[in-house]
Amino acid sequence: MWLFIQRLLFLVLGFTACLSQAQIFTFNVPADQGLCSDAQQTKIGQFISDAKTLVADALWAIDQRKTHNPALLAFFTSYFGIRWTADYSRFGDTQSALAWETVHDTLKAVKAFLDGNGLPAELQFTGRPPFAFCGDATYQTRGWGDMAVDYQGDQIEKDDGTYETIWDLYGIDFPERSFTPFYSPVQRGYAFTHGSRPCADTVDLDGNPAQTMAFVAKPLFPKTTGTIEAFGKLDPSMVLCDVSIDIPAERDNMVEFLSDIEYPTADKPTGLDDKLPQSSSFFHELTHLTTTDVTDRWYPLDSCIKNAVADNGIQTSGAETNAQSYMLFAMAIWYYRHPPAGVTPATFYQGRSNDKLHIDN
Ligand SMILES: [Zn+2]
Repeated sequence: MWLFIQRLLFLVLGFTACLSQAQIFTFNVPADQGLCSDAQQTKIGQFISDAKTLVADALWAIDQRKTHNPALLAFFTSYFGIRWTADYSRFGDTQSALAWETVHDTLKAVKAFLDGNGLPAELQFTGRPPFAFCGDATYQTRGWGDMAVDYQGDQIEKDDGTYETIWDLYGIDFPERSFTPFYSPVQRGYAFTHGSRPCADTVDLDGNPAQTMAFVAKPLFPKTTGTIEAFGKLDPSMVLCDVSIDIPAERDNMVEFLSDIEYPTADKPTGLDDKLPQSSSFFHELTHLTTTDVTDRWYPLDSCIKNAVADNGIQTSGAETNAQSYMLFAMAIWYYRHPPAGVTPATFYQGRSNDKLHIDN
């Protein structure tokens, strides 16, 4: 009898775990349009599990504000530029209080999504979970002069009997034509990005060569009169490029999951970005997917920390709307909170696991 119940429980649990990533994302797309294989969907399930850990740790840090513990609250200064009074009992300025609210709201939105509650209402038009694609095959290259289609897939006739082009509808957002238009038949919408393909290698915000790991496509409404409603049904979606879902190569300096990380010790300190899990890229994308205002300002660890704290509180630095700042913060808190037994917690205040000094508060 016991055995029977245990086996039944095991089966039920297995079924539940299998359902969860398919409830959170829509994977049901044609095979040649970025369909995630069964193995890839299982891996995304593991990314979801890691992301739940990361957001729980980040929200735990939020909950610790009342402890006034400098060792923990200093992480908010390093990664979000949030300043405190000398005794860490209150925010140092109004902007820090506002940035704190933004950080809290973003983390709550990510958690709600991972818990199966969907996207915030202002991002959700179809009532269906957002698409997750593996690879960028759903995006077909288009030319700016090609005729555009609306949400129904129909061409759009102008008053003079000619048809709207992609340039007519979207050109105003990309005046230099340095972006390439792509069309996704699955989503019946356009995406615009630099480079020959959405997942191709590109340049980062500082102009350095960079590998596109993953991206979130957000709806962009065409600039025209009379036909806006024909485009009003796009939800954001996520693409995991091969490099963020395939087994990492040695040179990629990545591991797959949090559980693959080798925890730094006193005699072997590490940098926070020396070896990141692929699940941390997924977490970065979740902050884009579940909010309207989290964008990409800086990627490198040193830029994220420097720019977060460079400002003197006259304005917010913008770190609270930078996806990579969330990812690095959540990773730093994860390290701090989960040292193996007998190991000193890693303190990435300035990006190294053995940083003794807080960044000036
Ligand atoms: Zn991003």
